[in-house]
Amino acid sequence: MTVPRLHCPGELTAGQALELAGERAHYLRHVLRLREGDGLHLFNAAAGEWRAEIARLAKHGLLLRIVARTREPVPEPGPTLVFAPIKRSRLEWLVEKAVELGVARLVPVITRRTVARPERSDRLEAIAVEAAEQCERLSVPAIEPPRPLADWLVARAAAVPLLFADERGEGAPLMAAWRRHPEGELLVGPEGGFAPDERQRLLGLPGAVPVSLGPRILRAETASLYALVAWQLARAS
Ligand code: SAH
Repeated sequence: MTVPRLHCPGELTAGQALELAGERAHYLRHVLRLREGDGLHLFNAAAGEWRAEIARLAKHGLLLRIVARTREPVPEPGPTLVFAPIKRSRLEWLVEKAVELGVARLVPVITRRTVARPERSDRLEAIAVEAAEQCERLSVPAIEPPRPLADWLVARAAAVPLLFADERGEGAPLMAAWRRHPEGELLVGPEGGFAPDERQRLLGLPGAVPVSLGPRILRAETASLYALVAWQLARAS
């Protein structure tokens, strides 16, 4: 059996005792059926990954003891994905896959043609944590509260390039854009695309780089994942 991994914020040190209650304790006890002495890994971006074991099972929770560090903390660079919320099942899928593909930060923005109501942030955060546990990341990407695109554009750092996926197909090839601007933020529109005035505004921004994702119109979640994969490939080659 693979060793279970749990994201555990805060300081982690050898010998430390940690109480676990609620859903996560339930999962370890009753779903994975762990017993006293069984091992697991705890991690977070600042502390790295640590081996722990179950010291004691209590009625409503369990007590863990941290044994030793198994991975040093290392930076996990990745792009920021700015996206218009889509239908819930597709959005949840997008968040899970984006975490696996190394996204560093998720920023939902409401555009003129955004129809989906933003999903509850605690639900999306739980999905991001689970995906990070599964794919062996140390960091869990932050998910920002949703806000109107116009507000986000005003608040963002103008010096950071903004690669925006322009479905009109007139943008630069994506890989070339990522190679030139690996620190750029990625913006993907909603199912209905960007409204003409939004597109004009984006094109007029100083750091804006319209990018093309090829000859087909992709669904918003496919477009996001395509662009995240391209970021990884641009870095690796
Ligand atoms: N309804 C729109 C398509 C929206 S697709 C239309 O018919 O034009 C959802 C989002 O995915 C778009 O806003 C864009 O950001 C991105 N996207 C999809 N396909 C793309 C492509 N070929 N090139 C660039 N961006 C694309």
